[in-house]
Amino acid sequence: MNTMYRRMICTYLIGAWAVTSVQAQDWSKVTIRTVPLADNLYVLVGGGGNVALLVGEEGALLVDTGYEQTIEKITAAVKAVTDKPIRLVVNTHWHFDHVGGNEALAKSGSVIIAHENARKLMSEDRHVAVIDTDVPASPAGALPVVTFADSMTLHWGNEEVRIIHVPAAHTDNDCIVHFTKSNVLHMTDTWFNGMFPFIDLNAGGSLDGVVHAFDLALTLVDDKTKIIPGHGPGADLADLREYHGMLVTVRDRVRAMKVEGKTRDEIIAAKPTKEYDPKWGKSWLDPDTWVGLVYDAMNRSATSSNDLEAIKRFRAAHDRAALALDAHAMAALWSEDGIILPPGSPPVVGKEAVERFLNDNYSSAEGARYIRNKHDYIDTRIVGEWAFESGAFDAAWMAGDSDEPFTMRGNMLRVLRRQPDGTWRCARAAWNIHDQSGPTDTD
Ligand SMILES: [Zn+2]
Repeated sequence: MNTMYRRMICTYLIGAWAVTSVQAQDWSKVTIRTVPLADNLYVLVGGGGNVALLVGEEGALLVDTGYEQTIEKITAAVKAVTDKPIRLVVNTHWHFDHVGGNEALAKSGSVIIAHENARKLMSEDRHVAVIDTDVPASPAGALPVVTFADSMTLHWGNEEVRIIHVPAAHTDNDCIVHFTKSNVLHMTDTWFNGMFPFIDLNAGGSLDGVVHAFDLALTLVDDKTKIIPGHGPGADLADLREYHGMLVTVRDRVRAMKVEGKTRDEIIAAKPTKEYDPKWGKSWLDPDTWVGLVYDAMNRSATSSNDLEAIKRFRAAHDRAALALDAHAMAALWSEDGIILPPGSPPVVGKEAVERFLNDNYSSAEGARYIRNKHDYIDTRIVGEWAFESGAFDAAWMAGDSDEPFTMRGNMLRVLRRQPDGTWRCARAAWNIHDQSGPTDTD
């Protein structure tokens, strides 16, 4: 971790959402700190959600615009870095501590880009229940003029800026922003670093979606990546893994108790966050309130058909990312310390269970080839909903035009996905048997 980066971001106010009355804040006391992350890429801290600034030949690009009341200070901070105009603005989601400067920037010529649901929610009078706050519709001049459904890539200066919608997470319109060349990832409010993550129920948020955002982030980062959370100090891969583990564990505990038929009050009383409270439970979102939120989000009936379609598209894209057997992503997952085994999971760890699984479930789509396993070893790691297995085996291989099986040595890597009913299903396997190699779908 770049300690300078951590220290500089660390001292800033945790979240607009901590301020129950925005009017009560003394805006004159706000200061914006500019922290360089890479050539031409900075994070501006202190004026709402963490703002990213990218300077290209063409002008400046901002990710988020802070509060309405802090935009002058933010633009002054931009001017201290570059005299180029702010031409492009990306809103990571609709919340007022991320879009408050939109109108002022649009007036001076910035083009504002956001997910289509962000524009929709900004266009309406809304109420955010958890903080009991009315949020009036934004003025027309503050609304994003370019919207998209799933993702968009901007090419600015020498940078590639990937904007990726992560559905039903903190809200229904969060986008994480990946500066691929600088190796910087902005996680927006899917991550409140230093506290349990706020979930905006009225705006379609869920803990599952937050976990999926982290699953995706784990496939995008390496140990050099600088990660900007929506609120809180700058972070790195180790922080990302630690927080991801907490999210998955708490989600699975709450879900398991809910399946057992425990009530909301009983689940809160069972303290499913207990060991995490000293680290993440000291903010305005206390552990009981947060567990209640997690429960309510699970208890909510299905989101709109629009959201469900977005979730389906995300899962398809995410599965491809996770299952590409990309060495980088796999390395990140394999280096997890120990096994994260959600409560209530079937026993898939260990040779016997894995063999049973193979015998029950494993066959190719065509039935033209199969693996009968005589493993030398199988190593299984479970990370959230995913299990990764590797091993060496003697394979019986049936060639397509021959019914004569023959045996040879192979190495395999298999990815399993936990199903809603708790069973595991092989999503993809890759194996290498001499020259027969490469990932093969087995669904
Ligand atoms: Zn937010």
